[in-house]
Amino acid sequence: MADSPYLVSRLQGFGTTIFAEMSALAVATGSINLGQGFPDADGPPEVMDAAVAAIRDGHNQYPPGIGIPELRHAIVAHQAKWYSLEYDADAEVLVTAGATEAIAAALLALCEPGDEVVTFEPYYDSYAACIAMAGARRCVVQLRTPDFSFDPDALERAITPRTRVLLLNSPHNPTGKVFDVEELELIARLCVEHDLLAITDEVYEHLVFDGKHVPLATMPGMRDRTVTISSGGKTFSCTGWKVGWLCATPELVDAVKTVKQFLTYVNGGPFQYGIAVGLGLPGSTFRRLAAALEEKRDRLSAGLAAAGLTVLPSAGTYFVSTDIRSLGETDGMAFCRSLPERCGVVAVPSIAFYDDKDAGSPLVRFACCKRLEVIDDAAERLRGMAR
Ligand code: PMP
Ligand code: GLN
Repeated sequence: MADSPYLVSRLQGFGTTIFAEMSALAVATGSINLGQGFPDADGPPEVMDAAVAAIRDGHNQYPPGIGIPELRHAIVAHQAKWYSLEYDADAEVLVTAGATEAIAAALLALCEPGDEVVTFEPYYDSYAACIAMAGARRCVVQLRTPDFSFDPDALERAITPRTRVLLLNSPHNPTGKVFDVEELELIARLCVEHDLLAITDEVYEHLVFDGKHVPLATMPGMRDRTVTISSGGKTFSCTGWKVGWLCATPELVDAVKTVKQFLTYVNGGPFQYGIAVGLGLPGSTFRRLAAALEEKRDRLSAGLAAAGLTVLPSAGTYFVSTDIRSLGETDGMAFCRSLPERCGVVAVPSIAFYDDKDAGSPLVRFACCKRLEVIDDAAERLRGMAR
């Protein structure tokens, strides 16, 4: 869809998100939606029950601007338990309307017009839009197929005297890459050397199958220059709740809070109680959630391979990426637009996450966060796909 003539120039070209377009296509065609990443079953009942109880108990007015104390303390305990990162629940935590608002508010608070933000492509779509809203410029370093590694020299070259922020997403959407310690050490060294701030998007922190999630803030010199962002939506299968948060020094939190208070002020009062309970659940619950998703990743990957797609490795997240050239096709956007008609399945063309359109064109992302019977049905349909 063409952009409205009323839209300001810095946002021209952002149009409608690929997720909205593909979910609408799934509804219109009655297809299985493996496009937008949302689970089709509820998460832990303790989390749901706590939100219901909060509504019944009358927690239905504005929560405090920085988030309810129960959630802020649960976030602090979570960071300490999982990563040995210590934060002050009153000064170093900010609850936000999903990770989306945390990312937007952090970029708007920390970037002057003309500043540069270094990030990896493919990148989650809201990064480009929020960098543009801030009047900043994005500089991307490519995660190269088939293993989604990056060239360290390319990262070094992307950093200039105008670079203000390095924006890192790990575990990474859409690739499923989990950055390893060696990569994080390099990123941290460059942030320190060039005196950059880091913003990290860790919304899939608990959905890792191979390797281990390590927050960038745990690397030498990074604790006080990193805004660490996460959200309850993915971990606890409640993407519609939009309860996110960030942890950083008091000075960084103050800056981001100034923006955040004028975007939404607050959101999701009763849901904050649910996520507070979720973050305190035992480690075994988190491992069970990851193991269930790993089985789905394996089942979907096998189904995609059986349908003739080249499956690229995914070590975590809700997603598996594929290369459609093994089917003799090169245009992922056309492929995804025709897929409902050809076999009743919806996926997302990864080109939406690339500046380098040639690199992104043959890649297509499928969501694995669906019930096994739904994945099997989709795999069957893809095998029978009209060529
Ligand atoms: N970052 C990434 C990498 C995501 O995949 C998503 C998806 N929802 C978000 C941020 C947004 O998170 P939230 O729903 O908490 O705003
Ligand atoms: N994060 C979800 C995905 O990557 C989409 C969320 C949205 O629609 N903005 O599929």
